[in-house]
Amino acid sequence: TVGAVAMDAHGNLATATSTGGIIAKLPGRVGDSPIIGSGGYADSDVGAVSTTGDGESIMKVCLARRVAEYLEKGESIRQAAEHALEFMSNRVGGEAGIIALSRGGEGGKCQVGCHFTSDNMPWAVVSNGKMTWGIDHGQ
Ligand code: ASP
Repeated sequence: TVGAVAMDAHGNLATATSTGGIIAKLPGRVGDSPIIGSGGYADSDVGAVSTTGDGESIMKVCLARRVAEYLEKGESIRQAAEHALEFMSNRVGGEAGIIALSRGGEGGKCQVGCHFTSDNMPWAVVSNGKMTWGIDHGQ
C-alpha cells in the first residue's frame, strides 16, 4: 500500500490509498483500499486517515472511519490508532498500519503520526518543502 494524508493551503484535508492487494488474491477481489471509510477517510474538521494491512479485517470494522471517530472525540493520533487497532484485533483479528493527520492536536495544532501492529511501517513527512522519513519496526 501507498497511503497519503494531506492538508492544502486552505486547510482542506484529503487522503489517498493505493495498493497491489494481497498475495494470491482471488480474481475480482477489490480489497479495502478503495473503500471510503476502510482504506481511507478524511473530514476537514477532524482529520485524514489512510490504512494498510489485512484488508478483510480493515473492511469489517471500517478502520479509517473508526480512527476519525476517535480523533473527533479528542484522542491523539497515537491513542486513536491504538484504540482502533485494538478494536479490530479483538473483534475480527488482523494487523494493520495507520497514518493520520489530525486537525485538533495539542493546543489546536495540526499533527501527523502513524501507528501499526504490522511488522514494520515505512513513512515520510513533507512539511514546508522539507522531507523526513524512516522505517519503524514493531515490538
Ligand atoms: N490492505 C491491502 C489489501 O488487503 C493490502 C496492503 O496493505 O497493501 O488489499
